Amino acid sequence: MSALPVAGPGPDGPRHRGPRGDEVDVVVVGSGPNGLAAAVVLARAGLGVEVVEAADQLGGGSRTAEVTLPGFRHDLCSAVHPMGVASPFFRAFDLPAHGVEMLHPEVAFAQPLDGGRAGLAYRDLDRTVEGLGVDGPAWRGLVGRVAEAWRGVADVALSDFRSVPRHPLDAVSFALAVLEQGTPAWDLRFRGEEAAALLTGAGAHAIAPPRRLAPAAGGLWLAGLAHAVGWPIPRGGSQTIVDAMAADVVARGGVVRTGERVEHLGQLPRARAVLLDVAPQGLLRLGGDALPAGYRRWLERWRYGGGVCKVDFALSGPVPWTAEGVDRAGTVHVGGSRPEMQAAERDVVAGRHPERPMVLVAQPSVVDGSRAPDGGEALWTYAHVPNGSTRDMGDAVEAQVERFAPGFRDLVLDRAVLTAGRHEEREINNVGGDIATGAVTPWQLVMRPVPAWDPYRTPLPGVYLASASTPPGPGVHGMAGVHAAARVLRQRFGRRVDPLDVVRAAA
Ligand SMILES: Cc1cc2nc3c(=O)[nH]c(=O)nc-3n(C[C@H](O)[C@H](O)[C@H](O)COP(=O)(O)OP(=O)(O)OC[C@H]3O[C@@H](n4cnc5c(N)ncnc54)[C@H](O)[C@@H]3O)c2cc1C
Repeated sequence: MSALPVAGPGPDGPRHRGPRGDEVDVVVVGSGPNGLAAAVVLARAGLGVEVVEAADQLGGGSRTAEVTLPGFRHDLCSAVHPMGVASPFFRAFDLPAHGVEMLHPEVAFAQPLDGGRAGLAYRDLDRTVEGLGVDGPAWRGLVGRVAEAWRGVADVALSDFRSVPRHPLDAVSFALAVLEQGTPAWDLRFRGEEAAALLTGAGAHAIAPPRRLAPAAGGLWLAGLAHAVGWPIPRGGSQTIVDAMAADVVARGGVVRTGERVEHLGQLPRARAVLLDVAPQGLLRLGGDALPAGYRRWLERWRYGGGVCKVDFALSGPVPWTAEGVDRAGTVHVGGSRPEMQAAERDVVAGRHPERPMVLVAQPSVVDGSRAPDGGEALWTYAHVPNGSTRDMGDAVEAQVERFAPGFRDLVLDRAVLTAGRHEEREINNVGGDIATGAVTPWQLVMRPVPAWDPYRTPLPGVYLASASTPPGPGVHGMAGVHAAARVLRQRFGRRVDPLDVVRAAA
């Protein structure tokens, strides 16, 4: 359970009563980063807000818990937060002012290769360029430029994809870089393996064959952020982020309740607005027959993407990476060379389990000694697998890490595996283990989850979608919640305000 002062169900079962009596201004279903961002905006706007969360622990994809041995604190979903520090919402909310300490590893992310080599993306661009040797200038020309233009790129990447870019030149130069890296031209710039693989590893977060537009955009954006704002890890775990948000809602008179799964909308109290931090599948369940047939069809057509098998390890010490510098990286993309990652990700979308899967690794102890006792490591990993896969990838993950870090297996004290097929038991929105709440394609990023000018507003009066299944898509940035909250303020409460001004003004 969360340590926050949240109320549990009342003695007569669940209560849905807002701070102003029977009618609540706003009910938010789901306490993920987007649900809570919406709740923060609306509570700071002076509205009565009630957040209802199905899980016993608040925070959705930003929770931390002991899942292996006592004292080993694992992030259940998100672990590393470039978008958290780049997000206009979190910048306005000011995480450090709420006690969240973002710790920056010297190496943001690393890509080990066979033969004891590795590509290293330092926080520092010049050092990265130097380390990448012959491809250093290519990295600077491509990723360095994104880092320079990061505010302009963020303005688009974290938008509702329906506003005019405020920095059109930055947007155009980013689009050109995406066209290069998302098409067969992607190798023209690079001469060696390290820089190319390093960039592809960053794009692997999209869980799609990397030589496509959406993963290329994700990879360039995330790699640029490494130099612009870093890839930090919060001291104590991702839970601290959502705890800070929930505490803010409670401090403004809001209520956050856990352990109450909403099965249908009729179960909620009368409210001026209801925001749903749910996947399209959840909206189908909650809305039922009340949703018009055409809208239902769009939701039913929504395509979920590849899944992940999460494997958390309790280790007796740090991973013995062969390549110098990987031990100082917060994040390690374990997938080998660019062609190898392309082949593995193609297998996943084709419904096959790759022999050598793409494995993402976070090593929080590089910066945060609080995660594991006695010099140990609470190693966070997941492997990409076909959606809904029930295969336990524990051995495959160990084999991939051991390949670049011989002796790794000897350090394993315990491991906890959650297959893609069982992921929804932990996180309802991750259908079939899809942690992006929908396949990451250009169409599905913009028309998320339906082709509409206002994708947050559902056909049900006063009911809004406010999850990663709306623009700008996955990640702990809170911006989907902010965009939904802006619509609620305007359409339900007649207030034409910039939601970020609301957040700043009530700081
Ligand atoms: C394994 C994994 C690793 C990830 N790594 C990163 C990372 O390192 N960095 C990063 O930025 N992002 C990462 N992500 C993605 C990120 O966690 C998500 O994109 C983000 O959490 C989405 O936020 P959300 O608020 O839309 O939904 P969620 O975080 O999924 O929260 C939705 C909440 O709504 C609740 N809910 C749903 N339906 C109901 C209902 N009917 N009744 C009551 N409550 C309900 C759920 O229980 C849940 O708490 C990762 C995700 C996973 C799973």
